[in-house]
Amino acid sequence: MKNLVLLGAGHAHVHLLSTLASQPWPGVQITLIAPYPRLLYPDMVPGFVAGHYALDKCVIPLEPLLKNTGIRWLAQSATALDANARSLTLDDGSTLNFDWLSVNTEPVQDRQQIELRLPGAREYGLFVQPTEAFGALWPRVTELAQSHALRVAVIGGSALGIELAMAIRHRLPTSSVTLVTEGASVAAHDTSAVQQRVVQALKQRNITVLADQAVSIQAGEVTLTSGARLACDIPVIASGAQAPAWLAGSGLALDAQGFMAVDACQRATSHANVFAAGDISTRVDQPLAHSGVFALRTGPALTQNLAAVVAGLEPRPHAPSKFTLNLLSCGDEEAIASWGRYCVQGHWVWLLKDWIDRSFIQRYRKD
Ligand SMILES: Cc1cc2nc3c(=O)[nH]c(=O)nc-3n(C[C@H](O)[C@H](O)[C@H](O)COP(=O)(O)OP(=O)(O)OC[C@H]3O[C@@H](n4cnc5c(N)ncnc54)[C@H](O)[C@@H]3O)c2cc1C
Repeated sequence: MKNLVLLGAGHAHVHLLSTLASQPWPGVQITLIAPYPRLLYPDMVPGFVAGHYALDKCVIPLEPLLKNTGIRWLAQSATALDANARSLTLDDGSTLNFDWLSVNTEPVQDRQQIELRLPGAREYGLFVQPTEAFGALWPRVTELAQSHALRVAVIGGSALGIELAMAIRHRLPTSSVTLVTEGASVAAHDTSAVQQRVVQALKQRNITVLADQAVSIQAGEVTLTSGARLACDIPVIASGAQAPAWLAGSGLALDAQGFMAVDACQRATSHANVFAAGDISTRVDQPLAHSGVFALRTGPALTQNLAAVVAGLEPRPHAPSKFTLNLLSCGDEEAIASWGRYCVQGHWVWLLKDWIDRSFIQRYRKD
């Protein structure tokens, strides 16, 4: 029997798993490699930080999805991949061979690399990824905040840093919150309409924005490029996510940032038996943002194409719409939505985001 290995239980693989109990693929042994027994849906993590959701409301358990599918689940992570030898190495040192491989893991905050550019990050920083580790540590911060007001610095001015800063402000109203944008302007990749609303939202929530770069972290402070020292009890590291190191030596074609280069069928441009979806991959035919929206949209196409290749058929290209509704929560029950050049804000936008996020969980939750 031939082997298909699904590496990572990201958005697209969760969709694939949800179809297999009712539509099994004959003649193929499927193995899932996923370190956690669930997918923690990152888009709801700011809502968890803000106190709107309990952590277990933000997860999709894997075991109910695997029931009656015959899939073997190994609770491990990949540490090396040799695409030419069709072999994966797992974190217990074992190796696993495959005929087909589909990768849906996430970028990583490489502690060693970040420590080189931001000494002290490893010892004092609260890293946002893996989100499972962050989710486990965040309650300790809220406990600490009960005894005294904290000084929190969120390092990273992208949508992730902005959402977290506003979520922390909502959850810890007596603490000071500073957003260190790493030298860029706030929401630098968004339209000027979004930027203006974000700047205003941060100001209204009394969040200090520093367009400076953190260069080191010590106990109780963060040093910035300007030489300024920012008093800080909790430095939240919300920047520096990159392709995992194990991809570099895999023999796969990669983009300039080290992510897997895939074609319009989500197939590796270098290896016909390897597929990828979500943030770990880059489409060479059309640039798509690394976001939950595109990760999710790829699920049905990846499922169809893997089903095709294991049945000896050709995969088909798919072209997701480039336009997305981007939703940025403001910590309290308000959010900013943007669609192309249009931008709106309000409580109803937060209700919409809340409904979309909870619907995603409901759709795949089978427990
Ligand atoms: C806090 C936060 C908030 C966000 N909010 C939004 C938002 O509001 N809207 C939006 O569009 N995007 C948002 N994003 C980005 C979005 O979550 C990602 O783009 C999306 O999760 C990518 O999905 P994916 O399918 O690539 O991987 P994911 O769904 O993140 O899953 C990757 C899986 O791979 C597993 N894994 C990791 N390493 C390995 C390994 N070595 N071996 C095996 N398995 C492994 C992980 O355990 C995880 O289950 C947010 C991200 C974060 C961190």
